[in-house]
Amino acid sequence: MGKGKRSSGSAIAAVALLLFFTGAATLLIGCAGAPHRGETPSPPAVPAGREPATAAPPFQARPPFALPGLKVPAPSPGRPVRVLLGGAQKDIRIEGDSIRAWNAAGTPVAGEAGRVILSAIGEKIRWGAGKMVDSPIDISSPSGLRVDGKPLVARVRVSARKGELYAVAVVPLEEYVAAVVSREAPPSFRHEALSALAVAVRTYALLSMEKPRDQTHDLVAGVEDQVFEGMDHIDSVFLKAAEATRGEVLSYGGALARAVYHSTCGGKTENAKDAWGKDFSFLRSVTCDDCLESPVRRWDYRMTAEEGKRVARSLGVQVKDDPAIRIASRSSTGRASRIRIISGGVSRDVSAADFRRVAGYARVRSLKMEIARSGDGWKITGEGYGHGVGMCQWGANGMAKRGKTYREILARYYPGTELAGVAH
Ligand SMILES: [Zn+2]
Repeated sequence: MGKGKRSSGSAIAAVALLLFFTGAATLLIGCAGAPHRGETPSPPAVPAGREPATAAPPFQARPPFALPGLKVPAPSPGRPVRVLLGGAQKDIRIEGDSIRAWNAAGTPVAGEAGRVILSAIGEKIRWGAGKMVDSPIDISSPSGLRVDGKPLVARVRVSARKGELYAVAVVPLEEYVAAVVSREAPPSFRHEALSALAVAVRTYALLSMEKPRDQTHDLVAGVEDQVFEGMDHIDSVFLKAAEATRGEVLSYGGALARAVYHSTCGGKTENAKDAWGKDFSFLRSVTCDDCLESPVRRWDYRMTAEEGKRVARSLGVQVKDDPAIRIASRSSTGRASRIRIISGGVSRDVSAADFRRVAGYARVRSLKMEIARSGDGWKITGEGYGHGVGMCQWGANGMAKRGKTYREILARYYPGTELAGVAH
């Protein structure tokens, strides 16, 4: 989650992936954040429609205010989160019962029932068949909107830039928190574990609002930040977790803390310094024996010969014969830090994090792994899922099962931090 250091790229992007178990049950496993740069069918429990009273007030950042317990002014709690939905597009399809649009001054500029296609013409937006409106526009519908058939959101800001459109969902903070928690953790998790995650998600969002990715949005809807899929199918357990911790964030030294999290540590969390090269005193390794029940406590992956060659080539290795792939060095918690690839008599060391990214986060689930030759390919066996830094979500759930509170969970995985913004 380091918005300020994002230029270093998304190599260590967070990952949140669907795993399918026993046919029917869907388990969501999340992890969010890296300092360099994370379902259940039920009716949407959050009212999706937030029709502006008369004219939609244009989105405006309010002056910062001091959260209780925070020395550094934080973004206003009334300020919504701006989430980029997808990337630049030529056209965007908006669907809703009664779609209405306002310009930046709050003047109604267009309306449509059912569906409208927007397209970019230079720096302007074409509404439907021909009407041209100035960018940006705020769009809403009483029962919510769908953008390109996907997330259900109450309000979207669409901007045109150089012939391309950007759709940014404008989401009230607490609704965003519930929506993200619903995609980053399974509904079977205990309330205290979900509450701890809600605090981490909220803190991440507020840090992003302090240091937005771009002038048009604070963060993106995908795994590079936190998974946001609109307000569809949000089980009440997630709403309760957000509500129970409303406004609460983690602070360290009076500022928002980088409350990163991952699915399963596999026994020991990782030091931020080892994972990303930057030390945070509250992101140092802690022993965790509470994630034993995680379905990804142990995993293995068979990498075929072809796959191994592809990965090696993607990492810049000239593959002349069957390469040898082995772990060259490890961090103090036992996670691979460098991978050695030998081919044609040439040996090359690459970052283990890059190896994992290229191989696929869902295949090589963590760097706490062993690589062994198996037939033509390799057998990779490992423990845990995710980068391993910060809160272990399955560990948090294990603690909750032992009767620990979300405060105790946060204190364990983010030692030295405090809860701020606590109203009660
Ligand atoms: Zn753990």
